[in-house]
Amino acid sequence: MNPMADCKCALFLDVDGTLLDIAATPSTVRVPPGLTRALDNVASSLDGALALISGRLIEDLDRLFKPLHLPAAGLHGAEIRRSTGGRTECLDCAPIAPALREAINGLVEAHRGVQLEDKGHALALHYRARPAAGPLITHALAQLVAHHGPGLSLLSGKMVVELRDIRHSKASAVSAFMAIQPFAGRRPIFLGDDRTDEDGFSVVERGGGLALPVGHRHGGHNIDGREPAFANPAEVRNWLDELPGRLRAGF
Ligand SMILES: [Mg+2]
Repeated sequence: MNPMADCKCALFLDVDGTLLDIAATPSTVRVPPGLTRALDNVASSLDGALALISGRLIEDLDRLFKPLHLPAAGLHGAEIRRSTGGRTECLDCAPIAPALREAINGLVEAHRGVQLEDKGHALALHYRARPAAGPLITHALAQLVAHHGPGLSLLSGKMVVELRDIRHSKASAVSAFMAIQPFAGRRPIFLGDDRTDEDGFSVVERGGGLALPVGHRHGGHNIDGREPAFANPAEVRNWLDELPGRLRAGF
């Protein structure tokens, strides 16, 4: 498959579950040998039109893919670095009130195995270690946000529910990149594995681009009812390895 054959493209890549295999916790993911070099090569082949679009902090992406400082959006679009090696901008975010944080801490303490990831402007509750707690946690968090979280919204992903500013998303991040060089005028392609990527899929398709889902969602259902373009992150990594050669060859 080479959806990038017929035109100049811009590539937007989710990280966890797309480039990297999902691990027990976000901090225990492993970056396979060769992936960082492959990303660097693909970015060069696309004249720099490659961006990472993640729920992680950008500084976390930099740690994973050291020494690269690729264009990136973090915290589902609440942070953005518009150019390679550029400055990370923290976009305006609704504050998470102390009372809400306190209530969320109580929620986590009441559910053994649920892990709170505090990303500053966003919070994530991971329930991979206790999947049965997911619906209850999500419902309770929704109630808390409705009462104490103006400007915030919930985003459900694989074994995680995230709290973030309603104005920022993977769609707003892709749109920001498509307005500037070297992305502008290229055909956007978005690879993602989770419901959090559906915003990105929608915006690239509206712009005449391609959404390429990775893997099957938990429970066997595909993202947004779509057939996966890649079975798993290993297939994505193989595709990235071969992409510069294919682009050079013009097919
Ligand atoms: Mg993902």
